[in-house]
Amino acid sequence: MLLNVTCKKCGIKYKIDIGNKTVDQVKETLKKQDTFSCPGNHVELSGPLDYLIIGEIGSGSALSDPEWLTQKKKEGYTLLTSDEVREKFTCTGVSMGLFCGFNKETKEKVVLDFMNSPAGVRYYF
Ligand SMILES: [Zn+2]
Repeated sequence: MLLNVTCKKCGIKYKIDIGNKTVDQVKETLKKQDTFSCPGNHVELSGPLDYLIIGEIGSGSALSDPEWLTQKKKEGYTLLTSDEVREKFTCTGVSMGLFCGFNKETKEKVVLDFMNSPAGVRYYF
């Protein structure tokens, strides 16, 4: 099942795949998290429940992953999965969550930031 949520800080609406859990069970899980990486591209040093408005299950206009990817491409992002980053770049270090390395073909240096999709998949840009 998909639970619709809205971020109070940036306003993005997305869906969390909650499997067969109840909303209360999901809230209990979210209470245990001490950081929050929002698909709206910000990271917070407190739990998701401080930022999320929990909506209904399976309704509303929240973004699915393919819709979110289409929106990010329209915004000009080129997004790479973790596997694509490993394939194309050699890592020389990770700092503050930023990937530092170089392109295996061109030897060009790169610094990549990341964001998580509504379903929680990490993409680098
Ligand atoms: Zn947000």
